[in-house]
Amino acid sequence: PTAPDRPRRVLLKMSGEVFGGGSVGVDPGVVKGIAAQIAAAVREGVQVAIVVGGGNFFRGAELQTQGMERTRADYMGMLGTVMNCLALQNFLEAEGVDTRVQTAIEMTQVAEPYIPRKAIRHLEKGRVVIFGAGAGMPFFTTDTVAAQRALEMKCDEVLMSKSGVDGVYSADPHKDPTAERYEHLTFGEALAKQLRIADAAAFSLCMENGLSMMVFGMQAEGAITQALRGERIGTIVTA
Ligand code: UDP
Repeated sequence: PTAPDRPRRVLLKMSGEVFGGGSVGVDPGVVKGIAAQIAAAVREGVQVAIVVGGGNFFRGAELQTQGMERTRADYMGMLGTVMNCLALQNFLEAEGVDTRVQTAIEMTQVAEPYIPRKAIRHLEKGRVVIFGAGAGMPFFTTDTVAAQRALEMKCDEVLMSKSGVDGVYSADPHKDPTAERYEHLTFGEALAKQLRIADAAAFSLCMENGLSMMVFGMQAEGAITQALRGERIGTIVTA
């Protein structure tokens, strides 16, 4: 639901994997396509905040299994997210959309530091704000940051994009042909059914603060624009 006194404002979470187009690094063609879809919604007046993951570069937990110290590996993961942010900013600006990157770890030559009130001003002016470097803290995930930033930016909802599925299912639809897709769920139902929708911290932030979420597949043509606009193309999860 959009607050009646202002335009729709949403937080879009994208995982880093998508940016890599299946491999390590950034696939510019993929990012360009994503940017074009975001730009279309911004031109319609939707205020868009974005959190991008970094799984296409490093995941702290994976590096840990290969012998690295977890916290250092997590910082590498956070730095990876920033490269994705810059790539997305590049293609959004190529589309003519003013974009600011704000990072939770200061690196003022490449991005603004995270300043919540400034970020809100950017959104009000129609600029896209991309949040990088996660929470700036090891042991967190970008899913949790997505929920936190959405709350702090007073977004109407979190849009969790998925590349492998188009919503929440009763079981893994790639393994179980009887898996059913849900149109609508409450966070309580998802917990009772033990459905993994987002990481537990993200989930509890949304549940406790009444922030609704749409889980949708980003692969279908135009899906990102539709989601940003408010079309119900995925599973809606509410408190
Ligand atoms: N990360 C972190 N703190 C944060 C956000 C991310 O330590 O607040 C690290 C963590 O190592 C994580 C990596 O950055 O594995 C990439 O983020 P994430 O796994 O959330 O990206 P995604 O899977 O969405 O691409």
